[in-house]
Amino acid sequence: MEKIPMTTPLVEMDGDEMAAILWKETKEKLIKPFVDLKVDYYDLNLRNRDATDDQVTVDAAMATKKYGVAVKCATITPNLERVQEYNLKKMWKSPNGTIRALLDGTVFRAPILIRGIEPYIKSWKEPITLARHAYGDLYRATEMRIGGPGKCELVFTGADGTEHRELIHQFDGPGVAQGVHNLDRSIRNFARCCMSYALDVKQDLIFSAKDTISKVYDRQFRDIFREVFMEEFMEAYSQAGITYQYCLIDDAVSRAVKSPGGYVWACQNYDGDVMSDMLATAYGSAAMMTSVLVSPDGKYEYEAAHGTVRRHYYRYLEGGVASTNPLAIIMAWCNALIKRGELDGSEALTEFAQMLKRTTIETVESGIMTADLQKVTTIRKPQVVTGLRFIEIVQNRLTKRLECPAP
Ligand code: NAP
Ligand code: MG
Repeated sequence: MEKIPMTTPLVEMDGDEMAAILWKETKEKLIKPFVDLKVDYYDLNLRNRDATDDQVTVDAAMATKKYGVAVKCATITPNLERVQEYNLKKMWKSPNGTIRALLDGTVFRAPILIRGIEPYIKSWKEPITLARHAYGDLYRATEMRIGGPGKCELVFTGADGTEHRELIHQFDGPGVAQGVHNLDRSIRNFARCCMSYALDVKQDLIFSAKDTISKVYDRQFRDIFREVFMEEFMEAYSQAGITYQYCLIDDAVSRAVKSPGGYVWACQNYDGDVMSDMLATAYGSAAMMTSVLVSPDGKYEYEAAHGTVRRHYYRYLEGGVASTNPLAIIMAWCNALIKRGELDGSEALTEFAQMLKRTTIETVESGIMTADLQKVTTIRKPQVVTGLRFIEIVQNRLTKRLECPAP
C-alpha cells in the first residue's frame, strides 16, 4: 500500500511517563505505516524542558502559530516533588499554561462516546463540548480578610488621576472581601474562539453566565458575546444552520442534564472548571476526554485531557501490567490529522484519520478494552487488554480494512 503524502508538517509535542509510551506506540503503529508523516518535532519531556530552560515549550508554541496544527502528549507540571525527582534547575511552569498564553487560546473538551460505554446521564447521545474561559475572574482575584467594623470600597484610579468608587460593604464586624477583574480584549477573544469552534464543528453554541445577579460584570460578557456574534458570525451561522444563544447558568445546567447533547457550551472561568469535571465524570472515565486549544486566529492544538498517568508508569517500569487507555491519545492524533488534511485540502489524509477513529471505536464496541472501561461497560464479557496490546489490535484491524476496503 502506498503511504498517504502530507504537504504541511504537523507540530508534534512529545511528553512524559505512561502517556509518552502510548504516544510513541500510537505514532509508530497507527500512523507511520500508513501516512508519510511529516512532523515538526518538539520534545517536551521534562528532562528536555529542563535542559533547554523551557525554551523548547516556547519554540513548540511558535511552531504551532506558524503551521496552524499541533498534537501534544501529556506533560508533567513540576511541583516540589518533581523538582527533586528529576533534579530540576527550577520549578518550570505548566507547558499547557505557557502554550495557552502564547496562543491566547481557549480550551475545548469533549468526551469520546462509544456504544457499550454508557454515560451516567442516559439522555446523552452526542457529546457536549465545554469551552472554558482561561483568563481572570476568581483565578486572578485579590482577597482581603476584614478584621472588624469599617468601610470596604472598590476604587479605580484612571490614568489621569480621577477616581471612581463603589461601596462593597459597610462592615459592622469581621468578614472577607474579594476583587476580581476581566478584560474586554480577553472576553472578545474568548467569544471569537467559541464562535469559530462551534462553526467549525457545525453545532449550536450557548454561552452561560449569571447576569441577572451580576448586572455589570457578567452583563459585560453577555454584551460582548452578542456584539461579536452580530458583527462577525451571524451570517455564517445562519448559512450553517446553527444558532448562538445566551443562557442563564442555572438554565444551562438543567439543559445539560436533560438534553441529548451535541452542542458547545461556553462557560466563564470558574463555571468551566467545575462543569468540565462534572461532564467528564458523568461521561464515564477521565481517559475518554479529548481536548483542543483553539486560538482566536484559528490555530489548533490537540491533546488528551488526562495527564501522564504516573501511577501506571511506575508499575510499568517495575515490569507490571499497565492497562492504560490510549483512546484519547489516538483521538488527538486523528483530530490533528483531520484538521491538517482539511487545511491542506488532502481528502486522503482526512479520510485515513476518520477511518482510524472508526476502527478504534469499533474495537472497543467489539468488546476489546482497557481495564478502566471494563468498570463502566455494559458489554458482556469484555476482553481486557493492556494499552500497548490495544494499539496492536487496532493496527491489525486497520491494516485489514485498508487492504480490502469495504464496498
Ligand atoms: P492523570 O495522569 O490524569 O491520572 C490520574 C488517574 O486517572 C490515574 O492514576 C488513573 O487512575 C486515571 N487515568 C488517567 N488517564 C488514564 C488512562 N489513559 N487510562 C486509564 N486510567 C487513566 O493525573 P495525575 O496522576 O493527577 O497527574 C500525573 C501527571 O500528569 C502530573 O505530573 C500532572 O502535572 C500531569 N498532567 C498533565 C496534563 C497535561 O499535560 N494536559 C493534564 C493533567 C495532569 P487509576 O490510577 O485509578 O487507574
Ligand atoms: Mg477542576
